[in-house]
Amino acid sequence: MIRKDDTICAPATSPGGAIAIIRLSGAASIEICKRIFFPSDPVLNLLQQKGNTIIHGTIREGSSIIDEVLVAIFRSPHSYTGEDSVEISCHGSPYITSRIMKLLINEGALPARPGEFTMRAFFNGKMDLAQSEAVADLVASHTSAAHRVAINQMRGGFSKEILNLRSELLRFASLIELELDFGEEDVQFADRIQLRSIVSKARNMSEDLLSSFSLGNAIKNGIPVVITGKPNSGKSTLLNALLNEDRAIVSDVPGTTRDTIEDVIVINGVEYRFIDTAGLRDTSDVVENLGILRTREKIEKASVVLLIDDVLDEVTLINQRAEEFRKTKSSGGQQLILIINKTDLSDREQIEKFRKNIILKESESLLFISAKEKKGLGKLRSALSEVVDRKMLASDNPVITNMRHYDSLRKVSESLERVISGLDENIAEDLIAIDIRHAIHYLGEITGSVITSDEILENIFKNFCIGK
Ligand code: GDP
Repeated sequence: MIRKDDTICAPATSPGGAIAIIRLSGAASIEICKRIFFPSDPVLNLLQQKGNTIIHGTIREGSSIIDEVLVAIFRSPHSYTGEDSVEISCHGSPYITSRIMKLLINEGALPARPGEFTMRAFFNGKMDLAQSEAVADLVASHTSAAHRVAINQMRGGFSKEILNLRSELLRFASLIELELDFGEEDVQFADRIQLRSIVSKARNMSEDLLSSFSLGNAIKNGIPVVITGKPNSGKSTLLNALLNEDRAIVSDVPGTTRDTIEDVIVINGVEYRFIDTAGLRDTSDVVENLGILRTREKIEKASVVLLIDDVLDEVTLINQRAEEFRKTKSSGGQQLILIINKTDLSDREQIEKFRKNIILKESESLLFISAKEKKGLGKLRSALSEVVDRKMLASDNPVITNMRHYDSLRKVSESLERVISGLDENIAEDLIAIDIRHAIHYLGEITGSVITSDEILENIFKNFCIGK
């Protein structure tokens, strides 16, 4: 149940720091705080205190002083939630924070539920739903790429894209609805080609956003990289070499799925999750076949596949294995990086021969390394970074990272697809209008806005001058 009228409180910082912040939000925040807080300046009245100010004083229970604190006052609507709010900065002892929390609850505040402050910010129009969701991503982000995507979304980058999409569709809807109003007279205000182009543009926008999801999700949760190849090609040696140099320091964020923390590295602010696998060779061995099945599953989910061979192999065999891999991988966009290891056992001439005779398909790359001597690892890191850069991280295009947005956008896209084929097949306006309304509705789901037909009406008057 959503409660909007109560005053809520919660510690806003995690235990372990020197300072802790306890947050209060709701109409009675300042009043409740006043009952337990004694300003150092005895004539100061908290209830008359201006917003965005900080006051020094003590928190007391009866005559006993719990802590010396700073109290920050925020006045509606100029606070995170949009309500009157208070932040108490106390010393970071869990004992102190729990004593202060108890006092606040005794004075009538309710313990806040997860996300309740941000939910209030949404209800009070401080941010839309997609922005609220980005707050959680921002808090969980621990690489610069994840941070960048989250902060862009929180600051409204993605929402702006959705609004643009929506305004295109509202324009379309107003044209169609106008025709429906004049249905009896059989007028056509909008030319069909123009309508189709508006919808196609909107459909392309939603498709672009949809296709950013695999990257967005990978940025948020780490880019899955599968290392595969024949036994003894040096897969473990390579993995260890990378991990020893770049081992990521990642906190164990609840709710994130990670195989093992050891297998994560960060290159240029992007997290890569390495998955070591058995090879792909077909075999009659049941146990090994199971391994191969699992390898295939992992490859399906990977963004990048490192296929490792070594210089001891014949070129034809290497080409064969690469071809086998291409057949194995699904239609998904796994990027193949073919790696020839153990260059320390080879000479320049032989490597040139490999380079000339190994067949690469478009967008695949070939690298020569010595995992044992840690040579060529820099090039491998650059190749991994490039995979992400190529997929548009370099630009500031909005990226979807959220399954809910993905689901809604998919429905938007499906509805638009129906509109387009409806237009192509000259289907009645009222049926087309239904699908358009669906698309607008699903977009509204993303930002949490409510769709009223008034909005569509307003659009009619804004864009047309009836009688002209
Ligand atoms: P995996 O089965 O693919 O994981 O292969 P390993 O990493 O266990 O390596 C197999 C053998 O190859 C080990 O004896 C490694 O020391 C050796 N090896 C791995 N990389 C290199 C390399 O770059 N040069 C040389 N000379 N030997 C290597």
